[in-house]
Amino acid sequence: MRPEYGKTRFDLILKPVSGKAVPVYKGEVLRIAQVEGGQCVDFNCYNLHDYKEHMAVGPSGGLRKKKDDLVMTNPARNRPMLAILEMPESCVTDIIAPGCSAPVFERRAGIEAHTNCQDTFSECIGEYGLTPDDTHNSFNLWMNSSWTSDGKYYSSSDRNTGKKGDYVDFLALMDVLAVPVTCGGGDFSRGSNYWFKPIQIQIFKTSDDLNVLTNDYIARHQPKTSRGLEDYRVKDIRTQRELEALAGYAPRFKNFPLQISEFAIELTDDDYLNLQKLQQMGLGDDDEDGLRSAVIEWYISNYNTAGSPIPR
Ligand SMILES: [Zn+2]
Repeated sequence: MRPEYGKTRFDLILKPVSGKAVPVYKGEVLRIAQVEGGQCVDFNCYNLHDYKEHMAVGPSGGLRKKKDDLVMTNPARNRPMLAILEMPESCVTDIIAPGCSAPVFERRAGIEAHTNCQDTFSECIGEYGLTPDDTHNSFNLWMNSSWTSDGKYYSSSDRNTGKKGDYVDFLALMDVLAVPVTCGGGDFSRGSNYWFKPIQIQIFKTSDDLNVLTNDYIARHQPKTSRGLEDYRVKDIRTQRELEALAGYAPRFKNFPLQISEFAIELTDDDYLNLQKLQQMGLGDDDEDGLRSAVIEWYISNYNTAGSPIPR
């Protein structure tokens, strides 16, 4: 059942080409909507209380994020940041393109003064004292990209399928600074169908339904192994630009050196035959490698906590 949202507390039309850095508090909903349709939107997002924790769009769960997916923060924080409550099928998402920047239009069209997402992000986050270096890989909404099985990638291979009135709703699972921008490359690609259009940004206050949903998402998806700077020996964020080694520093790698103990396992004739078959299938270079691979393949296929897919 669709949760009931609180009242609208923020409503802004972003004229092309612009963006806005806006706080969205835990339990609130950020809506990004098409006003006319066909406009690509680039999106950055930061923990409002610690800008070094930001959105990290990765392929966990698939290369296209969609309704009901989560957006997590960067390693080693790895915390749930946003939940996608609503997203129409006409909104094709892309997590590969980093966001357009000036050199793209210099190379593609010989234009040095072209609008671009990198410069738009930089202007937006400047309001909060962040520098262009603080932008991160973009979560791209309404971006009909594609790729081939041999790895060729096309950022705007198809025309934008966004329809007038389409909207994407993000539930904030922590206090964030959200930075949606209208993509500045739309007039030179199918990414926004060769023209610029406005985008609407709305924020809905939290509600009983949204609070329950927020707490449920966090309870199910907050990893115990999430780490912040306080968990490491170097805790101070470097302000000196020049890099030089810290005197006396020696890394302390986890479980290093690995403590290996060898032991023998007796197999039945049937098991040994199966082990040979697995090696013929390419799973393992010898008996030891094949058995270890089979056991771990079985383990990761059968051990999986809800909502925490083990990477394969
Ligand atoms: Zn762009």
